Amino acid sequence: MRREPDASGEREFRLGIRLLGEHRPDRALPSLRAAAEACPASRSGELERRLYWLAMALLRLDRPELALKSLASAQKLRPRGLARSAYESRANEYGMPRRASRELDDFYAFYSIKIGQYFARKGSSCFADCGEKDAVVRLVADAWRALAAAGRLRGLDASAKLSRFRGARIDFPSFGLGGESARQLLRVDFRRKAALCGEERCPCGSGLPFRQCCGRTAGLGELACE
Ligand SMILES: [Zn+2]
Repeated sequence: MRREPDASGEREFRLGIRLLGEHRPDRALPSLRAAAEACPASRSGELERRLYWLAMALLRLDRPELALKSLASAQKLRPRGLARSAYESRANEYGMPRRASRELDDFYAFYSIKIGQYFARKGSSCFADCGEKDAVVRLVADAWRALAAAGRLRGLDASAKLSRFRGARIDFPSFGLGGESARQLLRVDFRRKAALCGEERCPCGSGLPFRQCCGRTAGLGELACE
């Protein structure tokens, strides 16, 4: 039997929801992802709904960072929708999955920012091998201990901590680090964050602070290719 094309992703979406209802999130995920990708941005309510259910599948698959990324995108489309309350109940002040303590929230933000900076400098979001990964992770952990042990975060709000995290110096070894294009990428990225960080409302109109919305800190699960 010939199947009709599913350009708008309606059928994929229904299939994804059904599979999720049958407790098969691993099989639901590709359908829900395809449904979200097929939904035109002009149908913002529908897109919000699909991104919400994509996030629910990701949560059931224990991938909270990718789920939060999906909810963060969805809540901008409809600031009073389902995704917004799901996002607010799970996101910490950095727009990352909330951990068991404020210290862990700080650590994961620092860790993701520093690894992200390393990847930006390198011009790739992959570690070439375990040796490179171990060395970079150890340097980030050492820098974190130095920062936290010196008490330099005490009494700071999230925005002030973020600028301290971004500015903390780590002398990464150069694992084939980049040419001019990698350096340019870093400069542009930093200028934009410096200009927009802080407590100001996000320019997208979501009503959340910029640091928690479009300026949220991407988790390592969003950054790295495994
Ligand atoms: Zn925003």
